[in-house]
Amino acid sequence: MASQSKVTISFFASGFCEAHEKVVNPKKGFGKISFYAVWALIEVPNLGYMLFDTGYSHHFEKATQRFPGKLYRIATPVKLKTEESAVEILKRKGIHHTEIKYILVSHFHADHIAGLKDFPSAKIICSKVAFLQTQQLQGIKAVLKGILHQLIPEDILQRINFIEDLSEETHQNNYGLTEYKWNLIPNLKFLLLPGHAKGMLGFHFANEYTNLLFATDAAWDTDCFNKGIMPLKIVKIFIDSWDELNDTSEKLKAMKNDSPSLEIAFTHCPKTLQLITHAF
Ligand SMILES: [Zn+2]
Repeated sequence: MASQSKVTISFFASGFCEAHEKVVNPKKGFGKISFYAVWALIEVPNLGYMLFDTGYSHHFEKATQRFPGKLYRIATPVKLKTEESAVEILKRKGIHHTEIKYILVSHFHADHIAGLKDFPSAKIICSKVAFLQTQQLQGIKAVLKGILHQLIPEDILQRINFIEDLSEETHQNNYGLTEYKWNLIPNLKFLLLPGHAKGMLGFHFANEYTNLLFATDAAWDTDCFNKGIMPLKIVKIFIDSWDELNDTSEKLKAMKNDSPSLEIAFTHCPKTLQLITHAF
């Protein structure tokens, strides 16, 4: 897949949940919309494979059998075939789960981390505040913030690394977004995208062919993002900060305005599925 000299990124989807279109765009009706759980495989020369998020896995079903976790499944009914989980997709590509060295977690919502337990030897990387929140919230309070403790590996304290500590260059970009550069991964920067979830990360991958900002859940739909349409306010219940969600969206729009070649993709936007067929 990758040449020997450069980082390559490939996107995949593992399952989806359904919601009403109105949730994403309050001007729409009650038609159904699918939120695909997109994740990325990053191959780094001389280092190996990393994942950025994992999508859904069968662990989600187990973690939502009883209350309060069951509320999550009621709110977002999930469809996933066994062969669609990240570990199975990678197996078909000839990549064994032990070859995944790191998993970068954008945020701890179940649709981004449900596959973590399928990669028991991977180190896990996230932002400090995202991890701290998982340690502070328990029971229904955690579920209301999209956190299912059963999806988090029991030995996470031995495997967790924080992007703030790994980053060799941390700065605010011209638009006020914090960027982290881990020199182990050339051409790639991580961005802190507050609002949707505490300490949520995205990444910006740029080389002579690609200028892609994977902004995870900073918005759910590219058209709504472009038009400044915010989700239905009922979702405020699990959004970390509505004001920061707005603010991050404005900053991303400013980046896009100043750099027309920049492509911004969001985890759950149907347009993002088009990224799945190529490797970048
Ligand atoms: Zn999320």
